[in-house]
Parts: sequence; C-alpha cells; structure tokens
Amino acid sequence: MFDYLIVGAGFAGSVLAERLASQLNRKVLIIDRRNHIAGNAYDHYNEEGVLVHKYGPHIFHTNSKEVFEYLSRFTAWRPYEHRVLASVDGQLVPIPINLDTINKLYGLNLTAFDVDGFFKSVAEEVLPVRTSEDVVVSRVGRELYEKFFRNYTRKQWGMDPSELDKSVTSRVPVRTNRDDRYFTDTYQAMPLHGYTAMFEKLLAHPNIKIMLNTDYHEILGLIPFREMVYTGPVDEYFGFKYGKLRYRSLEFRHETLDKSVHLPAAVVNYPNEHAYTRITEFKYLTGQQHPKTSIVYEYPQAEGDPYYPVPRPENAAIYNKYKKLADATPGVYFVGRLATYKYYNMDQVVAQALTLFRKIAELERSELLDSVKKPRPNGSKQHGAELNIGKSGYGEAV
Ligand code: FAD
Ligand code: UDP
Repeated sequence: MFDYLIVGAGFAGSVLAERLASQLNRKVLIIDRRNHIAGNAYDHYNEEGVLVHKYGPHIFHTNSKEVFEYLSRFTAWRPYEHRVLASVDGQLVPIPINLDTINKLYGLNLTAFDVDGFFKSVAEEVLPVRTSEDVVVSRVGRELYEKFFRNYTRKQWGMDPSELDKSVTSRVPVRTNRDDRYFTDTYQAMPLHGYTAMFEKLLAHPNIKIMLNTDYHEILGLIPFREMVYTGPVDEYFGFKYGKLRYRSLEFRHETLDKSVHLPAAVVNYPNEHAYTRITEFKYLTGQQHPKTSIVYEYPQAEGDPYYPVPRPENAAIYNKYKKLADATPGVYFVGRLATYKYYNMDQVVAQALTLFRKIAELERSELLDSVKKPRPNGSKQHGAELNIGKSGYGEAV
C-alpha cells in the first residue's frame, strides 16, 4: 500500500514526492502519462547531442532563498542571466524596453533622466489599470505598446491585450537604465547538468517509485494508496463538470543547424512578423560547447497540451467553482500550475509545493498527537509507526 499517489512528475509532484519520502518516511508512487519525468521542464540531449528543452526555454530565476537552497540539494548551478532581443522596425533591440531600446529605435542619445521624461510624456493615464493593454500604455504610451506588445500578445494568446488580465504583460518591466537582463531576481542560474538530471536526484529516494506512460485513471482500483497529490488540470480531474477551463497551447518546432551559433542572443522575440512568437537558441542557456546548435520556434495555438492558464474573469469564475470542489474533496491535494490554474513560474510552483508539504506535515503531526491523547479502547497508545493517518478531509492546495 502506498501512502501517497502523486499524479504528475513535474516540479509540483516531484517536490512533494521528495519531501514526503525523505521527511515523513512515506511510501510514494509518482506517475506521469508522459514518457519522462520533469514535466514541462524536461530537457534531453537530441540526436545531434545538443541539450534542448522539449517544451520551450526554461530559465530559472527566483527571489526566494528557501526555494534556491532547497533545489541546490539536488543540483549544482551554472550562473546565467537571460537576455532577449525583439525584432521591431527592422532592428533587434533589447526587451524589456530600456534606455538603449529607445535610443536605438529612434536614433537618439537620451540619458536615463531624459528617457524617464519621454515615457511620462507618451504615457496615457488609465484608471484603473485592469487589462494587459492598460499596463503598457500607462507606462510607455500607445506607440511602443503597438510595436512591442499588441501583436505579440494577440499571437501568443489569440486575443487582444485589452481582453487579458493586467498580470500577463506586467511580467515584463520597463526600465530607464541600460539593464538588459530579462529578470532581476536575486538568484539566476541554470541546473548545471540540466533539469532532468536534477529531477532524477529529487526522485532518487528509495521510498519513491516512478511509473511513466500511465494516466492515473489506469491504476485507480488496481494500486492501493491512502492519499493523492494531483498536479494535472483541475477541470479534467472533475470530468469538466463546470465546463472546460481555457488553456493556451504551443507547438514547438525544433531544429538543429550545422553551425555553432545562430542568434545574437538567447531569445529573439518577433512581435510583428511570422506566425511564431520567439526563437530560442539553447546553447546560450545551457553553456554547452558543440559544433552544431539547436533552436526552437514557438507557435501559439488554441488546442494541444495545456500550457498557459488564461487569466480572464470568466475563467477565474469557473476555476473558483472547481476550487470549491477541490477543497471539499477528502484525501486529494491539488497543487501546481494546472491544478490551481495559475500562471506560475517554476520557483513559484516549488514554493507552493513546499507550503503544501508543511501543511501536510502539520496535519499529520496533529492527528498523531490526537491519537496519542485519545487512549485506545484497550488502554494502549497508538505509535507513530502503526498510525494509519487515513483520509485527511483536506483538499486545499496551499
Ligand atoms: P507540469 O510541469 O505541467 O507537470 C504536470 C505533469 O502532470 C505533466 O508532466 C503531465 O503529463 C502530468 N499529468 C497531468 N495529468 C495527468 C494524468 N491524468 N495522469 C498522469 N499524469 C498527468 N517557468 C520559469 O520559471 N521560467 C521559464 O523560463 C519558464 N518558461 C516556460 C516556457 C513555456 C513554453 C511554458 C509552457 C512554461 C514555462 N515556465 C517557466 C513555467 C513552468 O513550466 C511551470 O511553472 C512548471 O513546469 C510547472 O510545474 P507543474 O509541476 O505545476 O506542472
Ligand atoms: N509580451 C509581449 N511582447 C514581448 C514579450 C512579452 O507582448 O516581446 C507579453 C505577452 O503577452 C507575453 C507576456 O508579455 O505572453 C509575458 O511575457 P513572458 O516573456 O513572461 O512570457 P512567457 O515566457 O511566460 O511565455
């Protein structure tokens, strides 16, 4: 009998598996319907021997010391600061928009002070800032919004920025200095030997068994377990009872080129040309030396694997209904990007999983205490090792 069945071997599932196995000595079965661990962070050496990210570029960055230190137990790191260029008006310019972007785009020689004044002069007053259009036009005005954000967002999401919650374009800052890093987090690094190698270490505990190519429905009733951690899409878990939640998908087209470098930066964004949004060259991310190089094009699409929850009010309303159901489902914990319908980065998912683990540990501790306080009918006390925690009645994710 397994103590926990964990559905999904991405960050959410694998962190929970590791914690439950190593800290609470629980027996864990982790399964995934894909043929690999690591979820969307999966990387592998392709036929040419280049390390690539199957599901698009994954760059690790976090401000959380706890998350960084936790993952550092399972990997060494390669310091890496991500930089992106955008193809606009026939030039490649830094994105996030910064001082150099403006100078290059308009052939100017502004200072940081000037560019601040420039942004203020073109910014539109929007009150309240509600949508992804509002965020950008209230910071840098309509012209830059149209050059950098409107068409990229239409491609990526299949809808206008005015129809999307402000949280989407808020992910990309605007700067008046020359800092051209995509992220400014305290910790920015890539797992030295890749993500999959890090997941192999996470899951290497003897209490953890891994089963791939398996949807959890296939083993229900066949393999006994006490509680479940579910990291798949929440609407699917409940048989789409309240309707389908919208997810945006992508098609990844990978290519290997017979040259050692292809792009002038790790990623080039194409807001206004092509059906794809961006091209990534993996060797920038991984630091691998190789005579060939591998790139990936991202083509957004409505159907396919669910990658991005779509932050819109009607989706939030449907999700809230599912969340109520999830909270009322005994013995099942919902965690991760798909199960809690949140546009989370990897570090946020790790933090969410660590928080859930603390809740589970606390719950088990209090149940243990209760059982010790309440004498058994024959007067003996129950010991931790014999304790059958049973269904907790808690389905809350975080
Ligand atoms: P997932 O990784 O999706 O894992 C869930 C797993 O559950 C999947 O492997 C799935 O096969 C399995 N599963 C689902 N249903 C079932 C079932 N019924 N039975 C069995 N198994 C099932 N984050 C960053 O921090 N930096 C980045 O640069 C970054 N780039 C990204 C780029 C793209 C294109 C995408 C899509 C995401 C990116 N992310 C990035 C986000 C990152 O991928 C997620 O935060 C993280 O992978 C979420 O982990 P998870 O465990 O919640 O979900
Ligand atoms: N975005 C844009 N133009 C860009 C980069 C980003 O319009 O050049 C918008 C787009 O809506 C995108 C969002 O900002 O979905 C968040 O960008 P990010 O790079 O964080 O997207 P992710 O890496 O999560 O796909």
